[in-house]
Amino acid sequence: MFFIVGLDNRTQRKERGRFHCPVCGGEQTYVRHVVQRAFTFFFIPVLNVGKEGEYIECAGCKSRLSPSVLDR
Ligand SMILES: [Zn+2]
Repeated sequence: MFFIVGLDNRTQRKERGRFHCPVCGGEQTYVRHVVQRAFTFFFIPVLNVGKEGEYIECAGCKSRLSPSVLDR
């Protein structure tokens, strides 16, 4: 008998909101994404083991930006 275990990154969508996008230059909707490191068992995520990072995606131009863009 054997087991296949590993680590994988999963991206979860968090909140949405409005912000001023510096790429397309206008008021846009954003979605905050959180990247979680997950322990997998037969390629199925079973346990989150830590946060890898997060980013803001502009709904207008699809750019991925640092969360600090919301502080401006
Ligand atoms: Zn944009």
